[in-house]
Amino acid sequence: MSIVLCTLNARYSHTSLGLRYLLANMGDLQPQTQIQEFVIGVRAADVVEKLLALQPRLIGFGVYIWNVEELTHIVALLKRVAPEITIVLGGPEVSHETTEQRIIAMADYVVTGWGDTTFPRLCSDILNGPKPLMKIHAGEQPAMDQIAFPYAYYSTEDIAQRTVYVEASRGCPFKCEFCLSALDKTAWPFPLDDLLSELDTLYARGARVFKFVDRTFNLNINNSLRILQFFLDKLNGFPDDPVFAHFELVPDHLPDALKNSLQKFPPGALQFEIGIQSFNPEVQARISRKQNNEKAMANLRWLREETHAHLHVDLIAGLPGEDVDSFARGFDQLAALQPHEIQFGILKRLRGTPIIRHTQAYGMVFDPLPPYQILANDCMDFNTMQRLVRFARYWDLVANSGRFSEHLPEILGDAPFARFLALSDWLYANTDATHRISPERLGRLLGIWLAAQSVDSAEDQEGQGARTPETASDEKLSSASEKSKMSATRRQQRHQAALPSAVARQASISDRASSLSEDNGRVRARSKIISA
Ligand code: SF4
Repeated sequence: MSIVLCTLNARYSHTSLGLRYLLANMGDLQPQTQIQEFVIGVRAADVVEKLLALQPRLIGFGVYIWNVEELTHIVALLKRVAPEITIVLGGPEVSHETTEQRIIAMADYVVTGWGDTTFPRLCSDILNGPKPLMKIHAGEQPAMDQIAFPYAYYSTEDIAQRTVYVEASRGCPFKCEFCLSALDKTAWPFPLDDLLSELDTLYARGARVFKFVDRTFNLNINNSLRILQFFLDKLNGFPDDPVFAHFELVPDHLPDALKNSLQKFPPGALQFEIGIQSFNPEVQARISRKQNNEKAMANLRWLREETHAHLHVDLIAGLPGEDVDSFARGFDQLAALQPHEIQFGILKRLRGTPIIRHTQAYGMVFDPLPPYQILANDCMDFNTMQRLVRFARYWDLVANSGRFSEHLPEILGDAPFARFLALSDWLYANTDATHRISPERLGRLLGIWLAAQSVDSAEDQEGQGARTPETASDEKLSSASEKSKMSATRRQQRHQAALPSAVARQASISDRASSLSEDNGRVRARSKIISA
């Protein structure tokens, strides 16, 4: 095999759309090209051994924020044991700041930006000569109808067991400065008839879970409507074999035609990832994010009340000039809209993003290692940021997991951010850990917490003596622990009932892969465990 395309995915359930695009566009070189995917956490020497067994002349690596550290090690080993192999890098992590990165220093060539046509041409030049003299090659952007679709390169196993990523457009017209898509000037759609034909083929091959990676699915409403109609036709034609689709939406653009279509979808068929990031207009202006907050909130409320779509909404902590009070107000506003999940993200300084222009003015300090998370700024010191990082982790365990949904209203009360921050601080003080906390143990801890809260409240209202904290705690503990087991079971049953079998199968695979990945993270973190 002359050319191997390789990457490390974050989970087994993830498939690399980028490598499949490259394979689809290799032209004459395609018969001598092969994909090799691994999952982060794998031993670097094992990856090198497997790659060398294929006897490649050239290896192209897809480099991303989640795998750059491990790929740096793998490239270092390859350069020691097989320096004759040409190493070509591509992907967002190596498309910017190319003079500063260890992995780039070791590689032979780098393709920045779009690789669909530039990478095959570079491979041809390397293998057939004359060898290019330049190390860095800026990827050319071909016309969208010149890019071969990658979907035929999902294997039967991929379709049966892993996430099928699809793409109706690339790019984004907006300029949010924390986002790599801020560098795009606009969005470019793929020819829609051709794409729908590809989706139909995937469907015929058994794909039932489609995840669109478009940055803004609801930009071109006519295209959005036709794609939604594709799924509605499948759902109506084969109601016993349902299909599921995931899209990213901008929240303040839901014309009536789109709303009409969305209302036709049954439960378990649609999932939306929606970026709010911040409700603070000054912060939005500072990071060049255009968002009509009133419309965004009205649309979120409408989606929650008038559709069956599962809503996953993003907020970012650590944006320049946003202090804890402002973030808390935004969190409470969003919590009141009751999306199914709030993704509480911490700002990251992605390579190439314009957010760095605020570094000095707002005292922004970032971790120098991936994922380049913010450590402090002039509104939030390091300790505050650490508390928010833990809040985000516990929020995932307690709220987003859905395991304790019966208790969430009691936990959040009328001040969701403040109350959950207090719980988060308490959980950390009592466990010294944010990982390796089993659901059963978390249920017991929540029971103790809730009991203490109700004792405090009773003491406030009635004075002392009604019940001892220990008695109340014991009762609440056993009740919440039992309830958490019951609610987890009921939630899973509801989830399974609402989702198509393909999604349920996918979810179970993802859970397994996720727990494997978490295990690796835990080993690295060497978290201290304290018995509850
Ligand atoms: S955050 Fe979303 S809307 Fe903003 S630039 Fe990125 S992809 Fe576009």
